[in-house]
Amino acid sequence: MDSHHLYLHVPFCRLVCAYCDFVTVGGRQTDIPRYTEALARELSAAPAPGSLQTIYFGGGTPSLLPTAAVARLVQSAVDRWDATPAEVTLEANPSSRETPDWAGLRAAGVNRLSLGIQSLRDPELRALARGQTAAEGLAAYAAARAAGFDNVSIDLIYGIPGQSLADWRSGLQAAIDLSPDHLSLYGLSLALVPDEWAAPPRPGALRWRHRQVVQQDDDLAADQYALAEDMLLAAGYHHYELSSWARPGRESQHNSAYWARRPYTGLGAGAHSYDGAARRWWNERDLDAYLAAVEADARPVAGDEELDEPTRAFEAIALGLRRVDGLERSIFFAEFGEDLVERYRSATATGLDGGLLEITPEVVRLTERGRLLANDALVLFAP
Ligand code: SF4
Repeated sequence: MDSHHLYLHVPFCRLVCAYCDFVTVGGRQTDIPRYTEALARELSAAPAPGSLQTIYFGGGTPSLLPTAAVARLVQSAVDRWDATPAEVTLEANPSSRETPDWAGLRAAGVNRLSLGIQSLRDPELRALARGQTAAEGLAAYAAARAAGFDNVSIDLIYGIPGQSLADWRSGLQAAIDLSPDHLSLYGLSLALVPDEWAAPPRPGALRWRHRQVVQQDDDLAADQYALAEDMLLAAGYHHYELSSWARPGRESQHNSAYWARRPYTGLGAGAHSYDGAARRWWNERDLDAYLAAVEADARPVAGDEELDEPTRAFEAIALGLRRVDGLERSIFFAEFGEDLVERYRSATATGLDGGLLEITPEVVRLTERGRLLANDALVLFAP
């Protein structure tokens, strides 16, 4: 039976960060019980194909959900699929004003945490206007470990205006010293014209981005990324995806399913679903529109699309090249009936000449330089 993966979106945040492109709402926490009800209703009505391998509570700030709500949703998914998923991840914010009941989350069935620490240096957290301190990040990490979480991931951001290479080194070293199981490192991306999938920024956020973006330095961000590759390798982490490093066996199973184009169901405002073949659909991202649809017993789907063959091939490459091990040519051939290198002769030749791609008889992958310039490499294959 095909593996399947479940994503539950929780859009609530105490503060909405000016750099954030996710589907979020601030100041609406009183709607959490109503939203939980809607998620449970959508879950009970959704098809339950395949064998459920992972659940991921993403946001927003899923750690704002009461643990009873998390337990109810996990149990509903387990009952719906008649399966016990190997990995249940929940994203949490390390702020003392929104401290979750860590032990309660563990008891609810969550077995992996993704902590939005973002930085362990206060000047950087202030620059990001995160509303949390480095001490709160350390305290959240310690509390999660004390509650029995043995699989904890930390998110960090580089490319923050004012963050020197030495600053980044010291913040990253502080994170390594915690010995997390997994790290996700994201370059601060300040979209001034959001793509079609991103939530449009509020006018104040857009003004903030304009002020910050002129202070960003792409060369410095590239140096920070290269430094992270060296430091994390030396600390025993396996670089397995452009933004992701893990201890052996601690790779994110849920995100790996996205990169392998496995089928998934997304529930909640703005969540996307994919059938693993050629169909994708997505929910209303406006919270009120989503709630109104579910409460009226209608599907909250806002749109869908059939992916044509060139788009599917491009997505296979774009997602496959995100993996440091690259895309296996035999897998591409099995789905598309052509060898990747022959089909994209010109793109692969340009990528090789530019030092962006490495090609073996088995795989096509990004070089170290290609990982720094991933967008330049991927665009070569665009239909
Ligand atoms: S970055 Fe995280 S905490 Fe900030 S608004 Fe976005 S989802 Fe919420």
